[in-house]
Amino acid sequence: MNADIILLKYGEISLKGLNRPVFEKKLMSNINRALAPLGKFSVKRSQSTVYVEPLSDDIDMEETVERLSKVFGIVNICPAVKCEKTMEAIEKTTVAALNQMDLEGKTFKVEAKREDKQFPMNSPQICQHMGGVILKNTNGLTVDVHNPDILVQIEIRKEAFIFTQKVSGAGGMPVGTAGKAMLLLSGGIDSPVAGWMISKRGAALEAVHFHSHPYTSDRAKEKVIDLAKIISEYTGEIKLHIVPFTDIQLDIIDKCPKEYLTIIMRRLMMQIAERISIESGSQALITGESIGQVASQTMESLAVTDNAVNIPVFRPCIGMDKEEIVTISKKIDTYETSILPYEDCCTIFVPKHPKTKPSIEEIVEAEKLLTDPEGMMNKAIEEREILTIK
Ligand code: ATP
Ligand code: MG
Repeated sequence: MNADIILLKYGEISLKGLNRPVFEKKLMSNINRALAPLGKFSVKRSQSTVYVEPLSDDIDMEETVERLSKVFGIVNICPAVKCEKTMEAIEKTTVAALNQMDLEGKTFKVEAKREDKQFPMNSPQICQHMGGVILKNTNGLTVDVHNPDILVQIEIRKEAFIFTQKVSGAGGMPVGTAGKAMLLLSGGIDSPVAGWMISKRGAALEAVHFHSHPYTSDRAKEKVIDLAKIISEYTGEIKLHIVPFTDIQLDIIDKCPKEYLTIIMRRLMMQIAERISIESGSQALITGESIGQVASQTMESLAVTDNAVNIPVFRPCIGMDKEEIVTISKKIDTYETSILPYEDCCTIFVPKHPKTKPSIEEIVEAEKLLTDPEGMMNKAIEEREILTIK
């Protein structure tokens, strides 16, 4: 079917009561932002539905649907044809749309929804009538009301809309309706998924990456930039802070007991991320940690890491198995980039026998051996590179 308009259905936003216009307005502006590179569109909303209509013939509808499928807040995407609200027009338009499709040997069913109660036929009558019209005016189709190949959906609203395809949207809430959070973005599988999950709930994202040049290469840095780009297709613009971390790591290795290396490194990462957040208006940190995944992600280690900062730390992958995280990373298209083999600063400096159950007291004691953590953190923040990813 060659669609000339796209209907977008949203779910959770419609439950928002008096605040609903705020969410709808944000959704509309995010849709406009996502579609702007493709050309001019009319984007209007009425009764929990957004109508997206291209304003020129050369706009690629497949690409339009693809982009809309990455806008949080949309539950279903229905490419449709529209016509006047008369039975005659609906018959003609439906038959013409179906006859563009390969119908041979296929089954179908009609579903109707009548938002406009003034329309002379009710929904069951429309279904029955249109079932007959379709059978008479197409070839190859038979009816199957239980498991049809083609579900012909007819919605009577301000106009009539006919569609056979319902693409799943990204769900969630519009980005920008839940503040802003700072993602600690490594090159691994977990952190891009964690950022995506929090943004799905409406948070705009900023990201920080700790880079250990020359122990980690420019390609490792490029990989993180690529990951941020993929996530930004969902979240919109991301400010990425690339923080030089080598001096801090070398000082930790030099001064502190080996088994504490990772946990102290993580505490300093969190503190730097917290400071950048305060400066830039992010209200929480996000990490890809999951209980028990590695030594630095035991309950004890997580408690010691949390203790380094005052800002809330969101860990949406906390209760997920690796396999579940991988499934999401494949769905959002970060997986293939995440598994590229470039080294990460954490893996390079991993101790052989990390402490799995550190206490806050022993870690704070060990950190006293560092040369000048305050000065080193400030220097790293000052020397960071800031990129705008879109
Ligand atoms: P994977 O386990 O797939 O490598 P990961 O990189 O997320 O994923 P860890 O290395 O254990 O796992 O790190 C835990 C979390 O710490 C990450 O999810 C990320 O949020 C943060 N992190 C780790 N290394 C860095 C880094 N170099 N820059 C920014 N954040 C980092
Ligand atoms: Mg990692």
